[in-house]
Amino acid sequence: MSTAATSLPDRNAAEAADLALTSDATMPQMRARRVRQRRQMYAGQVASYSLGAAVLLLYAHDGAVAMAVPSLFWLGGLLIIGTFTVLSEAGVGDRHSDHYLTVFQISAHMALQFVFLVSAPTVGIAFIAVLFLIFAFGTLRMTSSQAMVTWGLATCGLGLVFLASDLPIGLPVGTRLERTASMLCFVLVIGQCAFLGLFGATLRKILYRRSIELKAAYQRIEELAELDELTGSYNRRCIMRHLDAEIEISRQAAAPCAIALIDLDWFKRINDAHGHPVGDEVLRTFAITIFANIRPADRFGRYGGEEFLLLLPGMAGDVASRMLDRLRGIVADLDWSAFSPGMRVTISAGVVTLRDNDTADTFLARADRALYSAKAQGRNRIASS
Ligand code: GH3
Ligand code: MG
Ligand code: MG
Repeated sequence: MSTAATSLPDRNAAEAADLALTSDATMPQMRARRVRQRRQMYAGQVASYSLGAAVLLLYAHDGAVAMAVPSLFWLGGLLIIGTFTVLSEAGVGDRHSDHYLTVFQISAHMALQFVFLVSAPTVGIAFIAVLFLIFAFGTLRMTSSQAMVTWGLATCGLGLVFLASDLPIGLPVGTRLERTASMLCFVLVIGQCAFLGLFGATLRKILYRRSIELKAAYQRIEELAELDELTGSYNRRCIMRHLDAEIEISRQAAAPCAIALIDLDWFKRINDAHGHPVGDEVLRTFAITIFANIRPADRFGRYGGEEFLLLLPGMAGDVASRMLDRLRGIVADLDWSAFSPGMRVTISAGVVTLRDNDTADTFLARADRALYSAKAQGRNRIASS
């Protein structure tokens, strides 16, 4: 005999996992999905009660229980399922955090088992077996306090039946048919428990997968929060953080550290002559070019507009100047005619190395002064100080 189990394929588990991760139950899409889940569960319960009633019919056929017991059991089950279906369709469950109304369902199905346990004690073990199934179903959704409440109710019921009465609770095994029916009632309960376990395992797997997806999404969000949307280089906030960190590391390791403020020359003219979108493409291509020609340890970020900050940890001033001049040459030699025939793009940069008394601000201010001097000297050049 069996009740309360659900027919819950993988898709349901996936949907349940979705629900576990989404709290906004007011979305119509989610409501519809929940209604669908509940309908599937109630259909499963009808099947479950039908199987249980069929087993009881075998007992009744053998005279172990009255002929009315199987049909009353079936009708009792349908009455509970029907009531919860009406509540479900009316959207009552949607107003609760547990839209399945698990505690109420468990209590109702449990009460029915106790009614039949008292009414037909000769097959009482079969009804008690169903309690296991009911609680297996409950483990998927109950909170610890709900579990305590329902367990308390079950204990009271069992106490009344076993201790406060002399009912001959048993399971008939006198005839071949009775033995078959008794076996079937355990087989069905165990089968449905196993199915519920499978559902729980699938749910766990899906939740695990979702947690990995969430972690990846979170990492991507963090990355995006650090990057400049247009160029893919670090944004100002992030490159400034790296600058602070590099200053700290250089001081601790007593190692040199160079930085370069790089600015595109006459960029306003590029925008004016070729349009802002072309200007954007130039910035993007410039950034890609820099990325392709710096070391993995170097940090490159957009300081603002068409001005970029390059951090060169461990690099001495003369090496840094040579490197920047190489970058300048590469940018100047790029074939920009794909953007617009005859287009030329050059950069200027101010290169400085860290001094003992430098703060991030003074370090940057010196780089800015060097950049200004590179501009003043005619652009397309590197200046250092
Ligand atoms: P200089 O050689 O002295 O640096 O001259 P410049 O024209 O490059 O400098 P200026 O500061 O006069 O102009 C910078 C221009 O960069 C103005 C601004 O519209 C443009 N700019 C800033 N950010 C962006 C961007 O994201 N996309 C595009 N297309 N243009 C930008
Ligand atoms: Mg400029
Ligand atoms: Mg500028």
